[in-house]
Amino acid sequence: YVHAHDDNCIFCKIAAGQIPSRKVYEDDELFAFHDIAPWAPVHFLIIPKRHIPSLAHTGPGDAALLGRILALAPQLAAQEGCNPYPDGGFRVQINTGAEGGQEVHHLHVHVIGGPRPWKKA
Ligand code: 5GP
Ligand code: ZN
Repeated sequence: YVHAHDDNCIFCKIAAGQIPSRKVYEDDELFAFHDIAPWAPVHFLIIPKRHIPSLAHTGPGDAALLGRILALAPQLAAQEGCNPYPDGGFRVQINTGAEGGQEVHHLHVHVIGGPRPWKKA
């Protein structure tokens, strides 16, 4: 099963430029953009351009893609103004499924940071 583009998916449309967003980063397989309702001074999302519904839909064949997303997080966090470790830092969060609090069903990695207080602890 190849996850391609889901015509009903808002993040597929954002990655394709069909819905506007404040872009943070783009390459051939990844896209990053600011969250529309930020929980903290810095809050952006990193997504694969390919439609993968959630982290629960990934497997060993997605290890390189997931690794690329995770490796990008600290670079973009610094670029977007998160202060350095350890006094600064940032949070990486992947909500997965209903009990995990996932609302948009296209895999996305939250990167959250900047000076506290944050709207969510
Ligand atoms: P989830 O709860 O699924 O992990 O988080 C989805 C996130 O996507 C939320 O933080 C929400 O604010 C963000 N979001 C939902 N729709 C849009 C949109 O159209 N544009 C942007 N930039 N963010 C969105
Ligand atoms: Zn999608």
